[in-house]
Parts: sequence; C-alpha cells; structure tokens
Amino acid sequence: MLVQGAITGKRSYCGFSRPVIDYLRISITDRCNFRCTYCMPPAGMNFKNQKDILSFEEIIRFVQAAVDLGISRVRITGGEPLVRRQSAELVARLAAIHGIKDLSLTTNGAFLLEQAQQLKEAGLLRLNISIDSLNPVRFSQITRGGSLKKVLAGLDKSLELGFSPVKVNAVMLEGIENELEDFAALARAMPVHVRFIEFMPIGRRLGGIWKFVPRKKVLDSLNLFGDLKPADSPVGGGPARYYKFSGACGTIGFISSMSDHFCDNCNRLRLTADGKLRNCLFSDAEVDVRPYIHKSREELGRVIAASIKNKKFDRRREKPLARTMSQIGG
Ligand code: SAM
Ligand code: SF4
Repeated sequence: MLVQGAITGKRSYCGFSRPVIDYLRISITDRCNFRCTYCMPPAGMNFKNQKDILSFEEIIRFVQAAVDLGISRVRITGGEPLVRRQSAELVARLAAIHGIKDLSLTTNGAFLLEQAQQLKEAGLLRLNISIDSLNPVRFSQITRGGSLKKVLAGLDKSLELGFSPVKVNAVMLEGIENELEDFAALARAMPVHVRFIEFMPIGRRLGGIWKFVPRKKVLDSLNLFGDLKPADSPVGGGPARYYKFSGACGTIGFISSMSDHFCDNCNRLRLTADGKLRNCLFSDAEVDVRPYIHKSREELGRVIAASIKNKKFDRRREKPLARTMSQIGG
C-alpha cells in the first residue's frame, strides 16, 4: 500500500526541499476548433483516433489513484476541452471524487456561452479563458477564424454564473503592445484576472512564427494607464505575479515561464489525452500509464509515485519539444 506523503509534501532531503505535488492538468482531447498560429499549423495536425484517447472511466480511475498520492487540484484542458462531447459529465464525475478540492478548466471560450451553465451545475469552480487579443480582426488572425464576440459573450456568461476567479490568459505576441489600454480597461471594469503569458518555444516548427514581447515592456506600458501596485494572487494563482490598478475590479498578472525560472516550485503533473504522464512541461519524457489504469489502484499508484519521485526541479529542456502545446495541454 502506498503511504500518502511518502513522496509528496514539502520536505527536505539533505537540505533540499521539494514542493508538494498536488496539481494535475488533464488534457481530454488533442483536437481544437481554433488553429492559433503559435500553437498549431493551419492544417496537417495528426489527431488521435477516439480509441487512442482515454475514456472518462479511465480518467476517473487515474485521478482516484493520483488522489491517493496527494493530488487535490485538477485542471481540465486540451486541445479545446469543450469540443469533447459530454465534458460536463466528466466534470461532475471528477467533482465527486473525495479529495479533489479544486476543479478548474482552461478553454478558448468559443463554446462557453452554450456550456457554462452545465459546467457550473456539474461542479466546476474556476475558469481560465484564453483571449490573446481584444481586437476582433487580430483575434481572428491569431486563432485563424475565431470570433472574439462569441468568446466575450462566453466570458460575460461565466461571470454572470458566478465562476470565481475567472482568469483571462493572453500570450504576449507581437502587436499586443497596441492593445494594452484595452486589456487594462478590461481588468478595471470586470472582476477578471488578466494574465500575460510569455510565449514558450514549444512544438517543433511553430516557435518562429511570432515574435514575443518581453514582460518588462508590457508592464512599463501598462503603467502609462495608471499606477499598478503589487496585488495578492487569486485562488490558484500559480506562478503568476499580480498587480492591480487602484479601484479596479480585476488584476493584471504575468506568467514569465521563460524569463523567470519557477521550476523549483513546480507542483504539477500532466496527463495527455492519450494517457501519457509527464512530470515536466520542458521535457519529452513521458510514461504510458494507460495499461496500468486497467490494473489495480496500487499498481497504477506505484507508476504515478515513480513519476513524482523522478520529477526534476531544475530547467532541463535541451531541444524543442516533439509535442505541441495542444498535445500536452498547456
Ligand atoms: N484550447 C484551450 C485554450 O486555448 O485555452 C486550452 C489548451 S491551450 C494549449 C492552453 C494554453 O496554452 C492557452 O492559454 C494557450 O494560449 C497557451 N499556449 C499554447 N501554446 C503556447 C506557447 N507556445 N507559449 C505559451 N502559451 C501557449
Ligand atoms: Fe486551440 Fe488552445 Fe491551441 Fe488555440 S491555444 S489552437 S485554442 S489548443
């Protein structure tokens, strides 16, 4: 029997302390209705067949075993998770697992208007919505055809339903410097946490398409629209650093995966849609856990425990990753 806490927990080994591994990101599909230029090529993605994607039952069995090892926070992602049929049913089943204290989902927002209510009723607590541009033309260009109007309607609906916190993720791509006043206005007027994300060169051949804008430039420009003061992190703040304009409803955050090294505080595991367990975003190392999902909970637990034990807390990316972000789950 695996002993809870034998591997997880903030503990010291010879003076070296490790963060608690309590957070699992689950990609439930590699498919997406968008083709964001920095994430997928316009055509030619080799999507998995349905038989190669974990069923809801398999995901639940995996999470039950992961909870035994200290996982208490789960984020559903993709591809676009809301293109998978019955995703609210999975949410309800995950929410019912004893030991899951936090359940969230990252989406491009295109189907939120239709699905937010079901997701809320199923027990989803928090939403991250990716909105890289507030200009409809640029948004459509980045996503290759996405409708900003529809995504903003989904954002409104999510706030109306009481999801909290709602975070808006924007990758700092070239051109964003012309939109900072609009993002600042969004964080002032709405109770949302706008998070600017550094572009990561993940996925072969995709990294060179966009130039990214450094955090300092974005922060300096935002300060032209008011005085940004450091602010507390919202629930599930993760590695972001937050700021707030005086009197604003929301905050501004930065996730600087490239310029800040937060690997030493990384508390995450990732499960890909096809059942590969990854303990580091910047490494291609993965374990095929699907065969173990059909064995005993203890046997599956041993595989998860080994992945936690082998997790490295220093940056070790040596070459561009073979999988794209949409295949890993962000
Ligand atoms: N489709 C959903 C969405 O876009 O929110 C969920 C999956 S997507 C892979 C998760 C997040 O990863 C999105 O916020 C997206 O902007 C981000 N992302 C994708 N490729 C990235 C890259 N190369 N660098 C930084 N963030 C990236
Ligand atoms: Fe789809 Fe999200 Fe990738 Fe955009 S970032 S292509 S919405 S998976």
